[in-house]
Amino acid sequence: MHIVVLGAGVIGVTTAWQLLKDGHEVTVIDKADGPATFSSFGNAGLVAPGHSYAWSSPTAPGMMLRSLWRGDQAIRFKPEFTMSQASWIVKFLGQCNVKSASENTRNKSRLCIYSQTILDEVVAETRVKYDGLDGGLIYFYRTPSAFDAAVTRAQILRDAGLSIEALDRDQTIARDPGLAPAASQIVGSLFVPSDASGDSNLFTIALAKKCAAAGCVFRYEEEIRNICYSGGQVSAIITDRGEITADAYVLCLGVYSPHLAKKLKIKLPIYPVKGYSATLNITNPDRAPKIGGVDEENLLAYCPMGNRLRLTATAEIAGYSTAHKPSDFSDMFAKAKALFDDAADFDNPQYWAGLRPMTPTGLPIIDRSRYENFWINTGHGHMGWTMSNGSARILADLVAQKRPAIAREGMHYEN
Ligand SMILES: Cc1cc2nc3c(=O)[nH]c(=O)nc-3n(C[C@H](O)[C@H](O)[C@H](O)COP(=O)(O)OP(=O)(O)OC[C@H]3O[C@@H](n4cnc5c(N)ncnc54)[C@H](O)[C@@H]3O)c2cc1C
Repeated sequence: MHIVVLGAGVIGVTTAWQLLKDGHEVTVIDKADGPATFSSFGNAGLVAPGHSYAWSSPTAPGMMLRSLWRGDQAIRFKPEFTMSQASWIVKFLGQCNVKSASENTRNKSRLCIYSQTILDEVVAETRVKYDGLDGGLIYFYRTPSAFDAAVTRAQILRDAGLSIEALDRDQTIARDPGLAPAASQIVGSLFVPSDASGDSNLFTIALAKKCAAAGCVFRYEEEIRNICYSGGQVSAIITDRGEITADAYVLCLGVYSPHLAKKLKIKLPIYPVKGYSATLNITNPDRAPKIGGVDEENLLAYCPMGNRLRLTATAEIAGYSTAHKPSDFSDMFAKAKALFDDAADFDNPQYWAGLRPMTPTGLPIIDRSRYENFWINTGHGHMGWTMSNGSARILADLVAQKRPAIAREGMHYEN
């Protein structure tokens, strides 16, 4: 079959790879000048089944409300007074109860764990280089009460099959000596030995090259404007360069997926959640973290990527702008300097802001749409890098009319 993949982010390119492996002829279209230039560009890099908790939890509404007057909340809400934001918020709040949060976390962890096995498979078969690091991730805490609560909360991920070690301060430093200068700030941590990290931008670029070598056609700098349909089938994609027809199509446009889906009268509950990252050159490797992690109470993710250190923070429900200015990073830098001050060059950062394509549940939609030849693989939210390879394999299995290796609870298209 000839299949057109819409979007060359980490989701589109991993989807293309799995479809190529199944023997399809694949074309990928993206308006950017290369792969992974948008949300997949500067993310935190954590491949983190050990952190696959649903964001829509019973504590989320309080954080969103407090964020209207306080800047220190994990989830920040800036009212835009648009229908798309309002209807998404209502659906998100509908998931913020114990039952839905547990179900969403269970479903998400299943996909994350599966996806990591497919990532390992893809890396073994392609040998792509992406500053990947195995060896676990550390989620550390500053207060005994938060640490104790985290140990209790982790049971749901243990039940999903993850090994999660609760470490005291000394054990945490032994796991990552790069945290030694910050020892006095750490009470304990959860260490997930199977978690990993890597640069999703490098990965996607390298995998796109492998796709091209396997015959995939990439059409960059081509903007998708419309999608035509007739008789229950999508008949063509209209771009700023003309019309493209194929046997089937896969929607992987991240935060822009709902805009194009609307042309087909398909409603997708996806809204952008903005985050910020800064990438610094590591100047003193002995003082830098050896593995990635999260300073949980400061809401700061950090990740060594080769000779670079990536810092990431903030979740803002505030529309589609990716604008940022140096002062947006002051708080992040103050917290990071308290941990890794002399490890990296804080004077010459590469600043970035990106949009997480969030569904209210935090689960992606991986399904056939109501058009027989139009498939959906989008809405991967804050864990799209972690979930990408598994989601792609599931989508390819659905196209091949094979039963995917894991259940797709919560990932169905509902219209
Ligand atoms: C701050 C931050 C930190 C994160 N940290 C992590 C992490 O540690 N671990 C993790 O697993 N995930 C993380 N994520 C989430 C992850 O980055 C995203 O879920 C993932 O990148 C989404 O990929 P995508 O391919 O769906 O979207 P994108 O990468 O945005 O790809 C969509 C593509 O569609 C193209 N496009 C859009 N509209 C059109 C059009 N009309 N015509 C043609 N092309 C179009 C865009 O150019 C883009 O290339 C983070 C995200 C952010 C923002």
